Amino acid sequence: MVRYPIGHPGAARRLTNWAKAQLRWRQAGRPVRSPEHVQALRQLCESCQEYYRDGKCVHPDCGCPVDSGGMLGDKLQMATESCPIGRWPISDASELQP
Ligand code: SF4
Repeated sequence: MVRYPIGHPGAARRLTNWAKAQLRWRQAGRPVRSPEHVQALRQLCESCQEYYRDGKCVHPDCGCPVDSGGMLGDKLQMATESCPIGRWPISDASELQP
């Protein structure tokens, strides 16, 4: 069982945040970042104090997966999503997977 740091959003909060992210993404037509862009963002996450070793962002306003994509997907691939502390923004059309 994974023990997250103090302050990490609980399961209900993580599920709510992830459901909101999925809704935003689906309503926008499921825009996806390029693999190169996703890799660059992943490096930012992996060097962040909010990154946890199981591949999740543990910021209280997030809790989403930022790894290579498990069963639930990967926030980094979803162009409608941004970093909760402003390290990377929502992507515009020029940054999307063609
Ligand atoms: S989404 Fe932002 S806060 Fe979360 S791990 Fe990545 S860089 Fe850090």
